Amino acid sequence: MTESANTLKEIKTDQDYGEIYRGVLDTLREGVYITNQERKISFWNTGADAITGFSEDQMVGQYCHKNGLKHIDEQGKVLCDSGKCPVLLAIREGEISETETFLRHHKGHRVPVFVRTAPIRSGQGDIVGACEVFSDISSKMAIRKQIQELEKLAMLDYLTQLANRRYVDKELERRVQSVRDTHMGVGVIFYDIDHFKQINDNYGHDVGDKVIRMVSATLRNTLRAADLIGRWGGEEFIEIVPNLDQKVLEKIAERNRVLIEKSKFKLVDQEVAVTVSIGATMIQPEDDMESLQKRADQLMYQSKSQGRNRVSMG
Ligand code: GH3
Ligand code: MG
Ligand code: MG
Repeated sequence: MTESANTLKEIKTDQDYGEIYRGVLDTLREGVYITNQERKISFWNTGADAITGFSEDQMVGQYCHKNGLKHIDEQGKVLCDSGKCPVLLAIREGEISETETFLRHHKGHRVPVFVRTAPIRSGQGDIVGACEVFSDISSKMAIRKQIQELEKLAMLDYLTQLANRRYVDKELERRVQSVRDTHMGVGVIFYDIDHFKQINDNYGHDVGDKVIRMVSATLRNTLRAADLIGRWGGEEFIEIVPNLDQKVLEKIAERNRVLIEKSKFKLVDQEVAVTVSIGATMIQPEDDMESLQKRADQLMYQSKSQGRNRVSMG
C-alpha cells in the first residue's frame, strides 16, 4: 500500500455519517433541534446555542415544552402548552408548519424567530419525532449599525447599548419638525419599569442592571430599521416609530408590553421578571418638545395609576 492511500480517509460507518451530518448542521446559522415522540430533545446544534444562549448540555434530554424557551405569540400566548405547539402537530398530525414566534433567550429577553417544524419518519414511514429549524429575525444588521454609529457619536448608553437621552432628544426634535412639515405619522412610546426599586432592594443593584439590560434587549429585538429606542432615565425608555398610525402604534406598544412581561431570567431558584407602564402617542403637527414629552409622561402615569403593566394611548 502506498503512503498516500494510507492517509486517504473514507466514510465507512453510520457513525462516520453521523459525525458528518452533525458537522454540517453545526455550520448553519439556523438553530436546529430534534425531539422524539414525547418532545424530548435529542439533538441541539450550535446555531440553536447562538440564537438562544442555551447550550447542548442544557437542552439535550429536556422536554421542549417544559424548557425555558417558552415560545409565545404576539399576544403572549405560550404555544407549547396550547394545542398549537408546532412540534406536537408535527408528531401527532404529520404536519409541516411555519410560524413566527418569540422565544426566550437564556439571558431572559425575547427573540423573534421564524420557525419551521416537520415530522421525522422512520424507514417504514412511521413518525418517530420532529425537527425544528429556526432563525433569528430581529434586524441584527440594522441594530449593529445603529450601535456603531451611536458609539462613534458618543451617544451610546453603555449599560443598555441603546441611544442615550441626548440623542433621543435630538431625534425627537427632528421628528417633531418633520411631522409639522410633512404630516407623516410618527409615534412615541414611553416606558417606565414598574416597582423597580423593589428589584434593587430585593436582589441588589447588579441584578437591577441585568433587568434593565434584559428589557432593553427585548425592546431592541423588535426594532425595524427606521425605529429608534433610547434610555431616557434610569429605568425609563423612549421609542420613536415612524410611518404608522395610532392603531398600529397601539399594537406595537401592547405587543412590547407583553414581550417584557414574558421576559425573565433565573436567579438561583427564583425567576426575576418585571412589567412596564406605557404611554403611547402620535406626534401632532402642533406639538413642540414640551407638549409631546408632557403628554407621553402623563399617559405613562395614567398607566401607573390604573394599576401598572398597561398601555395608555392619547
Ligand atoms: P414605579 O412603578 O412607580 O415606577 O416604581 P419604581 O420603584 O420603579 O419607582 P421609580 O421609577 O421612581 O424608581 C426607579 C428606581 O430605579 C430608582 C433608582 O434607584 C433605580 N435606578 C435608576 N437607574 C438605575 C440603574 O442604572 N441601575 C439600577 N440597578 N437601578 C437604577
Ligand atoms: Mg422611573
Ligand atoms: Mg419605575
